[in-house]
Amino acid sequence: MKPKQLIALQKRFFESGQSRDISFIKKKLKALKTAVINNEEAIYDAAYKDFKKPKFEVYGSEIGLLISQIDKILKNLHRWSKTKSVKASKLNFPSRDYIRREPFGSVLVISPWNYPFLLALSPAISAIAAGNTVVLKPSEMTPNTADLIKKILTEVFDNDHFCVELGGVEETTLLLKQRWDYIFFTGSVAVGKIIAKAAAIHLTPVTLELGGKNPCIVDVTTDLKLTAKRLVWGKFFNAGQTCIAPDYILAEKSIKTELIKLLKLEIKKAYGKNPKLSPYYPRIVNAANYKRLIGMLSDVDIVHGGDKNKGDNYLCPTIVDNPSLDSKLMEGEIFGPILPILSYNSESDIETIVKSYEKPLALYVFSKNKTFYNAMLKRFRFGGAVINDSMIHFGNQNLPFGGVGESGIGVCNGRFGYNTFTHQKSIVIKSNWLDAPLRYAPYKNKLKLLKKAFRWLG
Ligand code: NAD
Repeated sequence: MKPKQLIALQKRFFESGQSRDISFIKKKLKALKTAVINNEEAIYDAAYKDFKKPKFEVYGSEIGLLISQIDKILKNLHRWSKTKSVKASKLNFPSRDYIRREPFGSVLVISPWNYPFLLALSPAISAIAAGNTVVLKPSEMTPNTADLIKKILTEVFDNDHFCVELGGVEETTLLLKQRWDYIFFTGSVAVGKIIAKAAAIHLTPVTLELGGKNPCIVDVTTDLKLTAKRLVWGKFFNAGQTCIAPDYILAEKSIKTELIKLLKLEIKKAYGKNPKLSPYYPRIVNAANYKRLIGMLSDVDIVHGGDKNKGDNYLCPTIVDNPSLDSKLMEGEIFGPILPILSYNSESDIETIVKSYEKPLALYVFSKNKTFYNAMLKRFRFGGAVINDSMIHFGNQNLPFGGVGESGIGVCNGRFGYNTFTHQKSIVIKSNWLDAPLRYAPYKNKLKLLKKAFRWLG
């Protein structure tokens, strides 16, 4: 179906009011949950075909999180959607004041390839829960997962409520020409800017979940062994293809050598002597990204890894010591299994490096020194932070997830996702039993009284 017809169909469905009926929404989300559970093996198969993503990571970072999101919505939707009574202004006396949450209407969700199942469906179901209709455009780079998402959604939803449009740049460009009521985009900064421009034509509100260079600061007081273990997990999970993966380490100078030694040990423990043979280590998503990453290794000092295989887009967990800030590796977001380690002498060194990049999506500090980590949290602007670990903030649906500046606009997750897809209508119901004459013209001799009214009632 052409995008224009599709959006017309969805607008008609929205106007029918059915997408806002809470029992209808819950019925559909329950059916989606069942379909996800029934398709668990197919989801693993698709993720494996796409980039050899291991089952454990698919469940832990995609299926499991999606199911808990659906459960949270089913449990809380009634409460979230209730009209909320707020204190009325005494200046308006007598009145009753409310906030009513209303869906925007037709929503376009555009998703990336790195968590191809979760990052497509998670924002989309928040939009559905809020009462919108959705067209979802998954990434063409993970075609097996994209096809499966389409199959699952076709079983559960009618096209006029929630449907999938497959395709790449050309198809997305056509979709972006339509007049949407909301656009939710997850992907790169460069494409985020294209989305924002397209949305601006109709002043369509957008959420942009983007990327950046996430610093990971390690100070002397940290438990170095545990830090190394957690860093290896955060950096090489999904072969480093995670928007909130630690991008680079900034270690206090005296502990850097020991940290590198421990990181090497932990890599071996996790993936064995030859990670290529490990069933737990995914591949780079495609040849273009493989080439991009290999290009980052040309002018740096590799102290661990570097082993590669073009045939299956394999790049070993790799550690790079002290790359120049002018190197390709330190230019932008790495988004792959290469971990640069820089060192610092003072807090001002940290500041110089972190602030030489755009505001990151995530900031990590490994330290037992509360004064130090609080100083870091205060000094930098970032989307979210974790002390003594990485990435785990994404899993808490009670925390908003999103970037700031170039790492994104707006938030998702749990109730915050629901709020994103609703407009807050302010409603005042004014009573007629009293009609104070003060506000009406002529205003002669009334200014003094007005000032008093503001002092007493405002
Ligand atoms: P991408 O920007 O290349 O693609 C994302 C989506 O945009 C895809 O569906 C793609 O088809 C579409 N697209 C690509 N080029 C387009 C164009 N010219 N016009 C219109 N649409 C276009 O991103 P990606 O490579 O899929 O994902 C990697 C990036 O996403 C990284 O930068 C990463 O940090 C970021 N990311 C952010 C989050 C987050 O939650 N903040 C999550 C995952 C990934």
